Amino acid sequence: MKALTPLLLVSLRTLQWLWALPLTLCGLPLWLAAALQQRFYASKRPLAQWNIAGAAPVFIAHSPLIAWLLEHHPFGPMDAMAIGCCVLARNQASLQRTLAHEQVHVHQALQWGPLFPLAYAACSAWAWSHGGCAYADNYFERQARRADI
Ligand SMILES: [Zn+2]
Repeated sequence: MKALTPLLLVSLRTLQWLWALPLTLCGLPLWLAAALQQRFYASKRPLAQWNIAGAAPVFIAHSPLIAWLLEHHPFGPMDAMAIGCCVLARNQASLQRTLAHEQVHVHQALQWGPLFPLAYAACSAWAWSHGGCAYADNYFERQARRADI
């Protein structure tokens, strides 16, 4: 089978990025708030950045506001989370510790698009109904944990 040409690969990633955009837009306001905080307070460490991972822009941020929201998350405190193509972490240390894991969730969001939260919830329900943990035994979490160091 002939390898995908770079142009075809970029086109595919662009379509995937657009497919995940409704989710990304949910996380983008927090990224923008961190970017503004960085701009106005001239933070020494970057609070918000973005990179191109596999031809798809990923927005990465941590800030006190994000830390507070992750601490008070309805499903319990967490170090970081991915919302579409946004990776939001409590601080730089938690970002470094969880980035590989969260990038797997970004890739999952690129594949599943706006259906990802539903698929994630269905996998949690499946795990829980079979005697497992809704979080730890969730298919998407098991896949992401393979990226953990
Ligand atoms: Zn996870």
